[in-house]
Amino acid sequence: MVKSIAFDLDGVLYPWVKFAYEYCIEMGWAKTDIYTFFESVFDQTLSETLKKNILDNPLLCYKALIEKDYHELLWKFDRAGWDIYYITLRPEPIYFATHSWLEHSKVPQYNSVYFPEKKSTIIRQFNIPYLVEDRKDVVEDVKNFCDVFLINTYWNRLYEQPKNCTRINSVLDLEGYLL
Ligand SMILES: [Mg+2]
Repeated sequence: MVKSIAFDLDGVLYPWVKFAYEYCIEMGWAKTDIYTFFESVFDQTLSETLKKNILDNPLLCYKALIEKDYHELLWKFDRAGWDIYYITLRPEPIYFATHSWLEHSKVPQYNSVYFPEKKSTIIRQFNIPYLVEDRKDVVEDVKNFCDVFLINTYWNRLYEQPKNCTRINSVLDLEGYLL
């Protein structure tokens, strides 16, 4: 049986929120703590142009290569014969930076990256049994098609996850479940 797993990038393999927040502080757009900034300021008070400047900014996808421990974990999956998929909802202006980051981070199967409108499309297309994710809207999208490992974050802390969704603190916890 082919074993396969899909990883989200931001909030799972890459701390985009942290880098976006630091950038907003530097630019003078964020004046609150990180939680308040993303929970209320970002969506409610920033202009569409500013939001686009942040969300479409390739530099924010490249503030650091992948963490060493995460890199090692991905290679453990690869060596154990798993097919790996990287599935992200990042917008088109940062596709290139995303490809480049995966390649330069030297993650296994780095060409296996997908930018769908809905992750369930790819999960169903390749019949992938596991997704590692941080967003509750994505869990809702895929929950009927695969099991989910949900990374605990402040933006999903109040979410009542479905039965086939297991909360973990970091991708490193996957080792205890799947490897
Ligand atoms: Mg994410």
